[in-house]
Amino acid sequence: MKSADQIFLNGNFITMDEKMPEAEAVAVKDGIIMAIGTNEQMRNWIGPETKVEDWSGLTVLPGLHDSHMHLFVYGQALTWVILNDIKSIDEMKEKVAEKAREAMPGQVIMGRGWDQTMFREDRFPNRYDLDEVAPDHPVALSRICGHVTVVNSKALELAGIDRNTKNPIGGEVQKDPGTNEPNGLLLETAKLLFTEKMPPLTTKQRKEMIQTAIAKALENGLTSVTTDDIRGNLIQSIEECMGIYRSIWRDGDPALRVNLMVYQSALEELKSLGLKTGDGDAQVRIGAMKLVQDGSLGARTGVVRDPYENDHENKGLPVHAQKSLDDWVWKGHEYGMQVGIHVIGDAASDACLDAFERAQKKKPRSDARHRLIHFSIVDEEMLDRTQRLGVGADIQPLFVSLNGKRVEEFLGKDRARMTYAWKSMLDKGIPVAGGSDCPVVSIDPLRGIHSLVNRDVSSVPGMVFQPQEKLSVNEAIRIYTMGSAYSTFEEDIKGSIEEGKLADFTVLSADPRRIPEKIKDIDVIMTIVGGKTAYKKKDVPRQ
Ligand SMILES: [Zn+2]
Repeated sequence: MKSADQIFLNGNFITMDEKMPEAEAVAVKDGIIMAIGTNEQMRNWIGPETKVEDWSGLTVLPGLHDSHMHLFVYGQALTWVILNDIKSIDEMKEKVAEKAREAMPGQVIMGRGWDQTMFREDRFPNRYDLDEVAPDHPVALSRICGHVTVVNSKALELAGIDRNTKNPIGGEVQKDPGTNEPNGLLLETAKLLFTEKMPPLTTKQRKEMIQTAIAKALENGLTSVTTDDIRGNLIQSIEECMGIYRSIWRDGDPALRVNLMVYQSALEELKSLGLKTGDGDAQVRIGAMKLVQDGSLGARTGVVRDPYENDHENKGLPVHAQKSLDDWVWKGHEYGMQVGIHVIGDAASDACLDAFERAQKKKPRSDARHRLIHFSIVDEEMLDRTQRLGVGADIQPLFVSLNGKRVEEFLGKDRARMTYAWKSMLDKGIPVAGGSDCPVVSIDPLRGIHSLVNRDVSSVPGMVFQPQEKLSVNEAIRIYTMGSAYSTFEEDIKGSIEEGKLADFTVLSADPRRIPEKIKDIDVIMTIVGGKTAYKKKDVPRQ
């Protein structure tokens, strides 16, 4: 009898497998689960080479899987200088100086979050402040509101801004009244003069950003993500993007399994490479073709059937006319792609369901698993139709926490009832996958699970948004495991702790079923990918 490479004993395994919902121990061979059961049963697989680890009662979930996020953009944001808490221009200088020391020569230093009303110096920062600490790197730091950016001389030089530069439409290059020299403050659209001239990132820089983001994902207990990195202003080519992720795996670093969404504009490249949804392997795989059909609730650009409650003329802003949406969906569907579309408003979802239905009529595909990402404002009939068409939902549970306070003001009572209506989706039998949309909200999947169970609104203590849509802890975990695995056609290898599946585990400090109101406070103790420890918390507490 062959023996296991590893045995993990004394775990509180929550398996998501109905045949055996709980277990004590697993045996792993070649990164795959070879057996699961009691401690006693697993001892049968111990051979001379087997490593045995005791998990002393820690709770173990199938590796958590984020069904929609932007890993590269997140990595980029992590490299920024965060200035939200600073109280002086001196502090701003210190933070920029620190970044300049680690940055490669000429690398652009970006930052955000400063607020001069909090500064001891009681004035705006200027180019000369930044020149003192970063004479060789272009620096651009945006104010907390995003409407003002301070840049240094190197950045002005790069942008070609000098005393002769005229103000662009809708913006101002602020100048010293005496000398007429730009003082480094760019208002509104004037910042584009700089951002348009920023040197493109190298593949090496992109890889470093992605590695930073991967480390964060693993630290948060994720073993798989579906990421949306391939588009014009991010990573343009599929080959480059796949190459980066493949090389991270080859380097042997603890890595993350990724499904790469491909923006519509890259469909031709995908065809020329002969790739479609599902191609690749358990490490790096091609995901869905991504389309965007509307905007957001907060900006009232989500496309709604009836005008916004607090903006009576406005029904949002569709990205595609119906004909163009139909064409794009058809192109993806016809070629064999899963199509995933960003939709917030009910009218935007109607338009997408129409497009899916038309494509299916022209060329029926029994298991296309097209998806609606966000799918925020729905009604009963729409959910029935979604289920009939075999379309899935990619939901972002933390949106409740972020927007719950404002939904009624924006949409009125009736529509608020069916906003973020996740229990209703499950009850209708719609496949539901869980994601963060990070960096829009936190990457932390336990906060996502917490939101599914509690539906609390972060800015209003005690407020619960539409409590009838709360899920059980088990349902919530299922969404982030089996639900996400189904969304990437990987339910045979991921999503539950079962014999034959990948040995991906998220090991927690506590059992979420025992403390449903405190799930967000649970710590990730270890993240195991393919049987290997990809993250381990220092000072593991003993229970
Ligand atoms: Zn997104």
